[in-house]
Amino acid sequence: MLMMVFTACNNQEEKREIADNVKKVEAPPVIEEFGYVLNDYDVVRDTIRSGDSFGLILGTHGVNPNRIFEIVNKVKDTLNPRRIIVGKPYVILKERDSANTPIAFIYENDLINYTVVDLRDSIDAYTSKRPVTVTKKAVSGIINSSLTESIQDEGLSPLIAHEMSNIYQWSIDFFRLQKGDRFKLVYNERYINDSIYAGIENIEAAVFYHQDKPYYAFNFMVDSIAGGRDYYDEKARPLQSFFLKAPLDFFRISSRFSPNRFHPVQKRWKAHKGTDYAAAHGTPIKSTANGVVIASSYTAGNGNYVKIKHNDTYTTQYLHMSQRLVKVGQRVKQGDIIGKVGSTGLATGPHVCYRFWKNGVQVDPFRQNLPSAEPIEEKYIPSYFAVIEPLKDELERIDFKEPI
Ligand SMILES: [Zn+2]
Repeated sequence: MLMMVFTACNNQEEKREIADNVKKVEAPPVIEEFGYVLNDYDVVRDTIRSGDSFGLILGTHGVNPNRIFEIVNKVKDTLNPRRIIVGKPYVILKERDSANTPIAFIYENDLINYTVVDLRDSIDAYTSKRPVTVTKKAVSGIINSSLTESIQDEGLSPLIAHEMSNIYQWSIDFFRLQKGDRFKLVYNERYINDSIYAGIENIEAAVFYHQDKPYYAFNFMVDSIAGGRDYYDEKARPLQSFFLKAPLDFFRISSRFSPNRFHPVQKRWKAHKGTDYAAAHGTPIKSTANGVVIASSYTAGNGNYVKIKHNDTYTTQYLHMSQRLVKVGQRVKQGDIIGKVGSTGLATGPHVCYRFWKNGVQVDPFRQNLPSAEPIEEKYIPSYFAVIEPLKDELERIDFKEPI
């Protein structure tokens, strides 16, 4: 830009303009981050190393032990010293005087969220967010071998494949895709300060052609108060089912519901009124439907277990957890993590025993005709169609790049 001004320069006035321009270029821009003007301070950027603690870091930057004690105590609810993770970046702002006193410690929880400890006078701690912008994108892809691979071929984030398999988990078996299956997506990406990629906000609209049949999915706000969003098809039918197919993402069914099986620990024949999902120790266990936790406890047989009541008809239970993550009375949504896989109680190896009650009787969920998710309320149907119509047009306009 400067170059253009130089070539156009041919009188005094323009020369003065250049001088002004040059001065503007040379003056350091005001850099604001975390709510501070960084230009006013010495800025130290580092990452948490093994053996570091919040107190130790302050100590190496010249804060005296009494003050450290006071600070750590005062902010422990906001910046839990035990939650500081090795490898996370942090920033220290220091006064530009001879004492070089630290005035703020900023811990970066993730790309978006950060925790500020203002070390001045009364000491203050709070968590805040970087400004995030959302950019809409449109893409298409043709399956050659797997969804993940075609997402990669398009240069897209693997998060998109993950999101798509979530949306279509009830309607398309992504392990059985066929060569030539294809998809179009309209989705939103998050950027920090307009430049740093920070993942996917949501897939707004999608159509997946599986064996030439189109499967539409539109993300629609069903509960503006709770911010609930779900996916529905072109006829406003929910894509979701009332129950997830399994309480785990990755598993092997090691034992099915059966009226009579040889118990591996008790060494005798008895009914197995559950489905066993074997998975690695610590794998997250999900509630298969919305509901309320009615038990979160331990018994010698069940080990750590959680029981969830979904409505007057259905209740589920999850046994042998290494860890329980919910309390009695807590409301959970479908897919919420309620515990971790373990082998507590009567278990030979890490697995979840998933138990399912219908009207108070233990049944095999695989043999049930399970309900679909709740449909959109009648009064929202017109606005649903109004929202999806332009999205459908947008999908229509996306082209497929045919392989050469
Ligand atoms: Zn079992």
